[in-house]
Amino acid sequence: MLKSVKRFIADHMPVWLRGRLLNSRKYGGQVYIYPTLECTLHCPYCVNLHPDGGKHLKDFTLLSPEKWIEILNRINRPVVITGGEPFLYKGLEKIVNGLNPELPVSIYTNLTLDVSKFLASTKKENLSFYCSYHSGAGSPEKFLENLIMLRDAGVNFYTHGIYASSQKEEVSEAKRFFRRHGFRFNLDVDQRKLYKCASKKFRKKVRCTKRMILIAPDGRRYQCVSKAVRMKDPLEDLTKEDLKDETVTSICNDYGYCAPCDALGETKMVLLE
Ligand code: SF4
Ligand code: SF4
Repeated sequence: MLKSVKRFIADHMPVWLRGRLLNSRKYGGQVYIYPTLECTLHCPYCVNLHPDGGKHLKDFTLLSPEKWIEILNRINRPVVITGGEPFLYKGLEKIVNGLNPELPVSIYTNLTLDVSKFLASTKKENLSFYCSYHSGAGSPEKFLENLIMLRDAGVNFYTHGIYASSQKEEVSEAKRFFRRHGFRFNLDVDQRKLYKCASKKFRKKVRCTKRMILIAPDGRRYQCVSKAVRMKDPLEDLTKEDLKDETVTSICNDYGYCAPCDALGETKMVLLE
């Protein structure tokens, strides 16, 4: 979709329609896990910098790899391992190696840490990476080194950067750099520009309906990332309980402080005031 069309929709369409039109990617039934919410970077657009959120990141008790394996094999859905930076979690390869072999696994990473040990110790076949370069990482050399390792290991990967005002020049330069080395690199729109609910300029009350399975570092499910980083309104505890319905509806007073990368296009929000 053209950028100008997206901007028109973002500025003029009602909330529920805006979300559907702007994000045509449908939720595929995956389970998103956050083994740690801590990160090697501090990007200005990150949900971890939520004003009520950052202080909680170290409060989570991390689950062991064995516990994650037990939960994920029980749920038995495709797995997305994200964060924070998942390579900060000790035992990432144990989780991946312990999953049911038929389960696809995607790892969302900023590639600031060396992936060679992980690749050498991971046997999984249906593994893919979603790699984000952020200017806070500095020179893109390290990212490139890791990309070369992924390519040589035969792993599928997607690379991108966020075309945010704070890093437009750096990601554009990074794109040219990766292209020179034979790698595709996409520039994705800053979701805060598309979704007012992530603008952090107001707080409003909405009825929010979201179809997603998101599990925080301690094994608790939350409705959205914004709530997870604030430890707000936890849902079922997957360490002890079975997964309930995919779709969760709540009355939320934090519309305006939603997480920009949180499948907002698939989230139905109805303003209540
Ligand atoms: S790399 Fe991702 S998780 Fe880490 S601070 Fe940046 S946006 Fe947040
Ligand atoms: S309105 Fe935003 S912060 Fe509230 S539950 Fe929905 S996605 Fe989360």
